[in-house]
Amino acid sequence: MAAGPARRLAERTHAMRTSATTLTEPTREIPIRHTADVVVCGGGPAGVAAAVAAARRGADTLLLERYGCLGGLATGGLVLVLPSFEDSGRPIIGGIGLETRTRLVEAGASVCRGGADAAFFDPEALKWLSQHMVRESGARILHHVWIASAHVEGQRVRAAIVESKAGRFAVAGRVFIDCTGDGDLFAAAGASFEASTQQIGLPFRLCHVDVARWKQAAADDRAAVGEAIQAAARRAGFEGWLGLEAMPTPDGLVWCNNMLCDRDGLSPEDLSYVETAGRDAIRRIVTELRATVPGFERAWLVDTASQVGVRRSRRLIGEYVMGDEDTAQFDRRFDDAVGRGNDFRQQGIAFDFPYRALVPREVDGLLVAGRCVSCSHEALEPIREIHNCWVMGEAAGTAAALSLRLGCPVRDVPIASLQADLRGAGVVL
Ligand SMILES: Cc1cc2nc3c(=O)[nH]c(=O)nc-3n(C[C@H](O)[C@H](O)[C@H](O)COP(=O)(O)OP(=O)(O)OC[C@H]3O[C@@H](n4cnc5c(N)ncnc54)[C@H](O)[C@@H]3O)c2cc1C
Repeated sequence: MAAGPARRLAERTHAMRTSATTLTEPTREIPIRHTADVVVCGGGPAGVAAAVAAARRGADTLLLERYGCLGGLATGGLVLVLPSFEDSGRPIIGGIGLETRTRLVEAGASVCRGGADAAFFDPEALKWLSQHMVRESGARILHHVWIASAHVEGQRVRAAIVESKAGRFAVAGRVFIDCTGDGDLFAAAGASFEASTQQIGLPFRLCHVDVARWKQAAADDRAAVGEAIQAAARRAGFEGWLGLEAMPTPDGLVWCNNMLCDRDGLSPEDLSYVETAGRDAIRRIVTELRATVPGFERAWLVDTASQVGVRRSRRLIGEYVMGDEDTAQFDRRFDDAVGRGNDFRQQGIAFDFPYRALVPREVDGLLVAGRCVSCSHEALEPIREIHNCWVMGEAAGTAAALSLRLGCPVRDVPIASLQADLRGAGVVL
């Protein structure tokens, strides 16, 4: 990113911080506007799977989402590639993840690429399918509520406090599942966590690319075309990498994944910077690509992601913290496994998600799933992928429903019963 705007932003942020004073909010009563057995916070891949799993088992389930669609980064964030669901020919992802991909493929909204198992999908189709599966399961959806705080009695979460156009109100529940990606609920509830950053992206899509011409140029001289794209990205102001993938549609649609710059995904100032400077850079990259990369002469910007691409922020420090040693080797197994994941970067790696990684140490009535699960900075790299988030969400929703059925705290759910339930739903264990 250009030094000028970055420095101006840093100065402005510093001025805001140094001139800030504090004030005391008056105590006030707020209404409990909704109640549910299971309250799922955040409607990304993990949250959708959690809500579907809990509701399919008969739990009265409410899914809370700040934006007006479901799917999280996979839809609003324009993250459009599902990694392989297999490892070395063995199935890894079953259950709700496999069902979702199968339903996308059957609807003509997802196409596997090359000989591999990985798949592109249409974000609008996943938006619709996610809400359809949630409603079909019997769970309710409440959009346009921002989880701002948690009401905790003793150690137990009793309500999520949300802000909305209708003001601040509480959503009471018996079990809560934090799938906000950023751990907004567990942080407010007092659970331990770590936070770290990684380059934030702002995916976008181009159309009218002459894909055949581009691919031919790449076949003639892969290094030159690759360097032309990265040079264009540098001139446009991308600090990190830009990846272009032709979508399997007939209209020259190209998905542009990227790493714009390293900022704090929990800071409104930093996120504002990434989105505004990012859209400036995207306008410039279109001009650069048109001028320098064969096949992009008529490229047209279709859209930029409406949800900024935060790769990592808070990670729970739960009953077990998954580390590099758990995700970087073949066949790492746990007795309390509630699903399996794999590494999008390479075959030959498959690992278990131990139930303890979903359970906070200090807070009761709460489970955590998705990219804010309990793991190290390094381990999150494979864990945070969409298909793995579906697995974790399904495990959390199933455990929540089982705890209610058995009348036990979520942290004490009998693992053998949970595993039997998950296996019955097609989850690979
Ligand atoms: C640029 C980029 C490229 C990526 N590329 C790939 C890829 O190619 N393949 C892949 O599989 N994965 C990829 N990923 C990772 C993947 O997209 C995410 O890690 C995954 O979507 C995380 O799922 P999640 O459900 O945990 O969280 P999210 O998808 O972040 O969903 C969280 C949901 O919670 C909601 N929410 C958050 N806070 C609140 C709140 N306070 N109140 C109410 N609602 C809230 C959000 O609006 C959102 O809907 C990429 C990520 C990025 C950023």
